Amino acid sequence: MLAPYASDPSASRGRRYPEAPAPTRNEYQRDRDRIVHSTAFRRLVYKTQVFLNHEGDLFRTRLTHSLEVAQLARSIARSLGLHEDLVEAIALAHDLGHTPFGHAGQDALHQCMREYGGFEHNLQSLRVVDELEERYPAFNGLNLTFETREGILKHCSRADAQRLGDVGRRFLERAQPSLEAQLCNLADEIAYNAHDVDDGVRSGLLTMEQLEAVPIFVRYRDDALREHPGLGGRRLLFETIRRMLSGQVYDVIDATRAALAEHQPGSADAARRCPPLVRFSHAMAAELQVLKRFLRTHLYRHPQVVETTGRGQRVVRELFAAYRDDPSQMPPDYAAAEDLPRAVADYIAGMTDRFAIREHERLTGLRLF
Ligand code: MG
Repeated sequence: MLAPYASDPSASRGRRYPEAPAPTRNEYQRDRDRIVHSTAFRRLVYKTQVFLNHEGDLFRTRLTHSLEVAQLARSIARSLGLHEDLVEAIALAHDLGHTPFGHAGQDALHQCMREYGGFEHNLQSLRVVDELEERYPAFNGLNLTFETREGILKHCSRADAQRLGDVGRRFLERAQPSLEAQLCNLADEIAYNAHDVDDGVRSGLLTMEQLEAVPIFVRYRDDALREHPGLGGRRLLFETIRRMLSGQVYDVIDATRAALAEHQPGSADAARRCPPLVRFSHAMAAELQVLKRFLRTHLYRHPQVVETTGRGQRVVRELFAAYRDDPSQMPPDYAAAEDLPRAVADYIAGMTDRFAIREHERLTGLRLF
């Protein structure tokens, strides 16, 4: 049952290149299907989330992260009456523009592109679906609906907003994206806050003792122990994370219901003119700040993570220099591009970790991994 404030595919603002409707699927299902069949989506399996892909088979990759975001977003969407296919499309596409080697890779590529307009993974996700995928005879990109593209573009500068036209307008008018887009944003946070604790402990970089400093973790762990006295080890960790996930999901549902009741948006567009309505409660938001700070200090800035992603940054920088100095080392389409630095950035951003490592070895003779 769709709520009045949900996005309705039959009232979509449409695609950049008009297409006849599909006989059996709504427009957002069609977007989701195009994303799943794209080349960029398949590459996510070999792209770093926090841990480099070759460091272990059980860590999250960009692909499994995106699937977890889609699962969380769908389940919240269903209980709020939002459009499940739209949240799934946005969630599966939200990280398509990520470089190899995670945030470290994006920072390195941004440095390389400093004089040429910079590099930002979020803008790049939109660029992938608008320009870079080459699958259709009549247009570049996947020709997705406005609502999916709007959801992919989480933030952008004024200059970019002006350049981007329809999907950029809300940044100039200080309006919000659809509730489905707002939901995907929170589902992304819920997913990584939980799975980074899991991967952090699995890797041995975080310990259960260190997590004593994180109130939200302690609270759900104590709940788990009250119900299952004597539970320990992996099962205690999983049970704590599972409760943390459910707790955040129920919190978003309750806080959002209260915000919807207060603002009473009568349509998807009315919701865009309200303050952000998909939200955590204040208490949960405060607890999550502590968890995020903890992860930043103890996991993302852990010397071992910094060391391996630092090598990834070197790969990105040296690849950028190598292709810029000798474009013929890239596929002909990229080598012939009018804007060479942008073409180099597109080429590198599209690489999986392992392809980047192989290319770097081929071009420099150095073996960094
Ligand atoms: Mg993400």
